[in-house]
Amino acid sequence: MVQSAVLGFPRIGPFRELKKTTEAYWSGKATVEELFKVGKELREKNWKLQKEAGVDIIPSNDFSFYDHVLDHSLLFNVIPERYSKYELAPIDTFFAMGRGLQRPATDSAPAVDVPATEMVKWFDSNYHYVRPTFSKNVEFKLNGSKPIDEFLEAKALGIHTRPVLVGPVSYLFLGKADKDNLDLEPITLLDQLLPVYAELLAKLKEAGADTVQIDEPVLVLDLPTEVQAAYKKAYEFLVSETAPKLFLTTYFGDVRPNIEAIKGLPVAGFHADFVRVPEQLDDVVAALSETQILSVGIVNGRNIWKCNLAKAIDFVKSAIEKVGAERVIVATSSSLLHTPVTLANEKKISAEIKDWFAFATEKLSEVVVIAKAITEGADSVADVLAANAASISARESSSITNDPAVRERVSKITDSMITRKSPFAVRLAAQKAHLDIPLFPTTTIGSFPQTKDIRIIRNKFTKGEISAEEYEKFIEKEIASVVKFQEEVGLDVLVHGEPERNDMVQYFGEKFNGYVFTSNGWVQSYGSRYVRPPIIVGDVSRPGPITVKESKYAQSITKKPMKGMLTGPVTCLRWSFPRDDIPNKIQAQQLALALLDEVQDLEAAGVYVIQVDEPAIREGLPLRAGAERDDYVKWAVESFRLATSGVEDKTQIHSHFCYSDLDPNHIKALDADVVSIEFSKKDDPNYIQEFSEYPNHIGLGLFDIHSPRVPPKEEFVQRINEILKVYPKENLWINPDCGLKTRGWTETRASLQNMVDAAKEFRAKY
Ligand code: GLN
Ligand code: ZN
Repeated sequence: MVQSAVLGFPRIGPFRELKKTTEAYWSGKATVEELFKVGKELREKNWKLQKEAGVDIIPSNDFSFYDHVLDHSLLFNVIPERYSKYELAPIDTFFAMGRGLQRPATDSAPAVDVPATEMVKWFDSNYHYVRPTFSKNVEFKLNGSKPIDEFLEAKALGIHTRPVLVGPVSYLFLGKADKDNLDLEPITLLDQLLPVYAELLAKLKEAGADTVQIDEPVLVLDLPTEVQAAYKKAYEFLVSETAPKLFLTTYFGDVRPNIEAIKGLPVAGFHADFVRVPEQLDDVVAALSETQILSVGIVNGRNIWKCNLAKAIDFVKSAIEKVGAERVIVATSSSLLHTPVTLANEKKISAEIKDWFAFATEKLSEVVVIAKAITEGADSVADVLAANAASISARESSSITNDPAVRERVSKITDSMITRKSPFAVRLAAQKAHLDIPLFPTTTIGSFPQTKDIRIIRNKFTKGEISAEEYEKFIEKEIASVVKFQEEVGLDVLVHGEPERNDMVQYFGEKFNGYVFTSNGWVQSYGSRYVRPPIIVGDVSRPGPITVKESKYAQSITKKPMKGMLTGPVTCLRWSFPRDDIPNKIQAQQLALALLDEVQDLEAAGVYVIQVDEPAIREGLPLRAGAERDDYVKWAVESFRLATSGVEDKTQIHSHFCYSDLDPNHIKALDADVVSIEFSKKDDPNYIQEFSEYPNHIGLGLFDIHSPRVPPKEEFVQRINEILKVYPKENLWINPDCGLKTRGWTETRASLQNMVDAAKEFRAKY
């Protein structure tokens, strides 16, 4: 019998239950018992859902209150002293590492003031993990029992699960050295870490686990030889009588370049992502021993399109031909963490389009059906297969997917459309002549706190409970108050604050043709931040101006330059669920043309500073170096330039990037006049050098917007001084890491005031 397996299920709940409870806990409105209770209910619900869908291999320990990698750090006692010294309850240490903690002293406890740990992209997804940070005195030990507890919890419900762990090599390789020992290569800690894994595995076995899913996703990256070599050492150590069987799991890419590292490992089986890279089947099969199980990741854990079941079944059959049915498992390609929970609560999407989708819950049935079709024959699921084939062909032939006018415009893109009229020096002179921008100009990245008020009114408007007029009035009032605030604080280039936007991509998606959006299709981005990615279903175009009214109004009420704010084509693409029927490049070009119209309308409306955010440009980078990556860089850069080059010299184009590990050359190629980059959590002194060659102007983010912590003015001064050692003062902008929408007003006010005061100090000095 061919079994079905799920690698992980979304933990947020169909109605964001997890977010609601964690945020209530953080603000003191829920007790820790209440928090834990909701966690338990969510896990129980997910397990039962999978059980009822007929999934054979159900994961546990895929739940987390913030991030599953951070769970491992707590579990292995990888807690830098700056967190452990407060001796907080484990859950509070956990949250302090995830999001920072600042709280005044009380009678019973000293004041706490500690920034969050660095957070980085999870491979090429829009999920972020909290990066393990290894300090000099790291002392690995088992510090808790989460995987065991959750296994037992499921067992008590009569559900036998396969616990999920991040494997030791990936855990180390995804981490970094703490600032107290920057020379440390985390992988050198393997010997010290392995006994703790062994102890954990033994406890899981004692609890009754027979197999553990051990995720080693770094196997799809370019690995240094010492990391490749670590696999043999790690798994020969961990596979033992006292451990459950280990199922080694990779996803999101191609394992072939590291295939030698997994050959001969004594693990029970191996999982690869054949949605992403079907071509790796032969090599993966060849790397297996005669008894190792092959888990065929064939239901896409990263997208929302219905699986083409007939094709998937054929693919699994081709695997069976090679290794035999008794050695094959049918699985999701990755954890379903990256897909929304269920289609069931989507009432607004038309029946025609909804029929093309499968969210996490619907994907459960897909793995089950594929397994059943193979075990019992296609006849046993004939109706399901027929319905699936009908949806697939309906989508292919639908008029929604194809707009000839858009195709025609894309075919006419020329080189002159991706080049500004003049080089930067000429543009800068033109910009200086009419924009009042001092030395050390201060600005923000766009959004201001999205208060409860704003969200309530927006919801009312969405539901039709207030009129468009009332809503617009409210938005104008918000803009006016944000503009006034910025003038009071003394910022130089202002923004309108984005109160009308629920999310930087969703907002545009809702205005473009070719998109649909969900009501409850939330996906975790990090911690309690979830997004509802819009879905690109057809060719994209702009029916009319999107942001012009708000930006024009904002500019009309201030003498300071107002920065228009758009989301770039690559980010619109990356943070949406893209189509799988035309290449990403074409989708990016369509988006770029739509944005070009918007940029030109803003300029015509008298908005002469325009920021086109491309925070997602890095994450789209193919995981391995080579032709595919070069090709991506080319079209990604060109689509940004297509969106932004059609303006006069005097119009200043800004762009913004968050998250780490950007390639300065890619940023340079965009030729934006000013770029802002997330920076505040970069402890590595070498990183400061990285953008020093940037020829245009640049703002290195000066404070962490993911944390409510308020940096004092001196901290800004110190940071700016460090930057000035490397960057010419004429090039420097002063700004936070990113938008402030998730922050409260209290800390926003205080942080920005300190930032502006620091800038003024430098302005006076130079
Ligand atoms: N302009 C956006 C904002 O401030 C940028 C957000 C982002 O880069 N993630 O919210
Ligand atoms: Zn950002």
